Amino acid sequence: MAGSIVVVGSSNTDMILQMDRIPRPGETILGGRFSMAAGGKGANQAVGAARAGGNVLFLARVGNDLFGHQALDGFRRDGIDVRHVIQDEEEPSGVALIFVAAGGENSIGVASGANRRLSPTDVQRASGAIAEADALVMQLETPLETVQKAAEIAAAEHVRVILNPAPAQPLSGPLLRLVTILTPNESEAELLTGVAVTDESSAKTAADALRRQGVGTVIITLGSRGAFVSSEEFTGSVPAFDVQAVDTTAAGDVFNGALAVALAERQPLRSAVRFASAAAALSVTKLGAQPSAPSRADIESFLKGRG
Ligand code: ADP
Repeated sequence: MAGSIVVVGSSNTDMILQMDRIPRPGETILGGRFSMAAGGKGANQAVGAARAGGNVLFLARVGNDLFGHQALDGFRRDGIDVRHVIQDEEEPSGVALIFVAAGGENSIGVASGANRRLSPTDVQRASGAIAEADALVMQLETPLETVQKAAEIAAAEHVRVILNPAPAQPLSGPLLRLVTILTPNESEAELLTGVAVTDESSAKTAADALRRQGVGTVIITLGSRGAFVSSEEFTGSVPAFDVQAVDTTAAGDVFNGALAVALAERQPLRSAVRFASAAAALSVTKLGAQPSAPSRADIESFLKGRG
């Protein structure tokens, strides 16, 4: 039985320039290769979850423009329920400009547009769907009060709240206490705790600090070094899979989408993190955010080949 997942968050169109290296301020580099792909952390997580096998409802705002229509078409092709994707009449669709260097590192600027107008009222209108979900998945590219409202609705109905605190920003105690699973990367964990996360021991220190603030489970993602999990059920590292990285954009998003699916299917935490790591590893072998999210079949055959 596929788990049902509500994703609340952002949708962007990504304009990607692949270059040998990322230009410094004031510098112009010729020789880049341009491509365009659907992105935005919320949409990436929704698509990541849908392809990983979840029944996904996405709650977002796009512009009533070409990019917005393209995004909606893409969500429908992935079988995502778009009843709560609102076409905003005032702001354009969100756009991200992304540089990707030869080694897979990236540098990103975002014009949020319609994403900024996703409101607590929009969330309230979808409260029935949130209450019935197995998991609510969110990030921080939409207003914080909207994230807070959705978390309150979910927590009141005992729906697990997975919050990917990206892009990094300080979070209040009342919000953190509503979060079942927090999934910062290294720099986000550092911003939230003041602990520089560089290895397993500092990851544990940061995770402990977040759990003391009321978060149930903390999963700190460490890029190619895997993830550190701290929870009542399991504490320890889950290694990353060894793959050739082409573009790490959306690795974390695909990780969160797949994690939500595995947990909604009642997989134990450790195996859910392994499933998410496999999905994320597959995603870094391909360019683009949503184009790189793997299917359930691809994730399962990848895992089968690795014991
Ligand atoms: P974010 O994209 O949010 O910064 P990370 O870079 O920590 O997140 O990546 C999230 C997860 O994706 C990691 O925990 C890991 O499982 C997987 N991952 C990221 N980069 C790689 C890589 N180069 N090789 C294999 N897996 C990776």
